[in-house]
Amino acid sequence: MLAEIITVGDELLLGQTVDTNSAWMGEHLELSGIAVERISTISDKPSALVAALDLALKSKDLVLITGGLGPTLDDQTKQVLAHYFETPLVLHEEVLANITAWFANRGLPMLPSNVDQALLPEACEMLPNPLGTAQGMWFAVKGSHQVVVSMPGVPYEMKGIMTDEVIPRLLDRFALPTRYHRTILTQGVGESFLSQHVATWEAGLADRQVSMAYLPAPGQVRIRLSSMAEDRQVAVERVEKEVNAFKAMCDHWIVTDVEGQSIAETLVSGLIGAGKTLAIGESCTGGAMAGSLTAIPGSSACFLGGVVAYSNQVKVDLLGVSMETIQTHGAVSEAVVKEMALGARHRMGADYALATSGVAGPGGGTDETPVGTVWMALAGPDGVQGRVLNFGQNRSRNIEKACLECQAWLLRELREYKS
Ligand code: AMP
Ligand code: MG
Repeated sequence: MLAEIITVGDELLLGQTVDTNSAWMGEHLELSGIAVERISTISDKPSALVAALDLALKSKDLVLITGGLGPTLDDQTKQVLAHYFETPLVLHEEVLANITAWFANRGLPMLPSNVDQALLPEACEMLPNPLGTAQGMWFAVKGSHQVVVSMPGVPYEMKGIMTDEVIPRLLDRFALPTRYHRTILTQGVGESFLSQHVATWEAGLADRQVSMAYLPAPGQVRIRLSSMAEDRQVAVERVEKEVNAFKAMCDHWIVTDVEGQSIAETLVSGLIGAGKTLAIGESCTGGAMAGSLTAIPGSSACFLGGVVAYSNQVKVDLLGVSMETIQTHGAVSEAVVKEMALGARHRMGADYALATSGVAGPGGGTDETPVGTVWMALAGPDGVQGRVLNFGQNRSRNIEKACLECQAWLLRELREYKS
C-alpha cells in the first residue's frame, strides 16, 4: 500500500512552523507496513489542495492530509474536500453536542465559526477527535479502493486520530504486510568508508529482499536494515541474517544493536554491568561529557564525577597536573591530557577516567595545534593511554564528537577487558 502525506498551511511554507506531522506519520505508517512515497507541503489556497489531491490519487492508495481544519477563514480543507468529492456539508448533531460541551467545560463562549466545525461532508466517515473541535474525516474514493483521510494540523490531535482511528481502520480493512527492522549504531567510521567496506554485501541486499539505510549524525552512523513480508517471521529471518553478516564485517565499529540506544547509554550500562566506575576531567568539552552521562537515569551507579578544568591553574589544583608539564608541552598535548586522566582517576577513586583537552574553535588554533585538535586520554587499571584526533572547524560538533569518541573508546576497552 502506497501512501502520500499532504500537509497544509502557509505557516509551514514560511518556516514559521516546522512540519513534524509528516515525520511522525511516516514513522508510524511504516511500522504498520505502509510505505510513504511522497510528502507534499502546500499553501492554504484551495487550488493547491485540489492539485495535490489530483496528483496523489494518480498513483497512491492512501492520501493523508493534515491542517486547514481550524475555525479561521484560512482553513479551507473541509470545504475543498466536500467540493472535491461532490458531497454537501451536513450538520453532525453528535459533533455539535461534543463541541458545545467542549466550550462549556472551559467556560468559553461558542462562536458561529465553532458551530461550523460540526458541519461535515456527508460522504465521509467521521473520525472523532476528543482532544479538539475539528474532527477527522475518512473518504472512500468512489469506484476505487483509494482512501483520503483529513486530520487537524495540531500535532497531538493528529496523533490521537492516527493512533485511535486511522491505523486500526487501515489494519482492519487492508491486508497489510508487516515490516520488521533493526538498527545498529556504529562509531569511529565515516558513512562513505563504511559503505565501501560493505559494498559487495550491500549490493546483494535487494535480491535478498532487505533494504538498508544509513542514518548519519555527527560522529556516528546508524544502520537500519528492514524487510517487508506477508508473514512476519519471514521478515524477521531475512533481517536477522543480514544483521549477523553486518556484525561480522563491522564488529570493531559497532556500539550497540539496541534500538534507539545512544553511545552514552551503552557506556553507562556497560560500566554498570562490569561493576566499574568512571571519573572525568574535561577541558575543551567543558562538562558536556559529564552532562551526557548524568542525563541518563541510573548513571549514578557508575559515574562518580567530573572536573571542568578549563584553566591551567584548575588543571593543576583540581586534577594534579604539573605546571611544568603544561609549560613544556602546552595545555593541548598528550602529556597534559594523560595527567588529567590520571589525576581524575586517582582523586575520585574511580576504576576508569576519561579526559579531554583540545582547541574547539573557531579561534585559538596554531600551525602545530589547529582548530579541531582534541587530545583524549583514558586511564584505567592498566595505566593511561592518549590519542589525538582532528574533528574540524565547528565548535559544537567538535565538542560533541570528542565526547562520543571518548565514550566509545572506553566502551571498547571494557569489552576487550571482558573478552
Ligand atoms: P490547522 O489544522 O491548519 O488549523 O493547524 C493548527 C495548528 O497546528 C497550526 O497553527 C500549526 O501550529 C500546527 N500544525 C499544522 N500543521 C502542522 C504540521 N504539519 N506539523 C506540525 N504542526 C502543524
Ligand atoms: Mg492552518
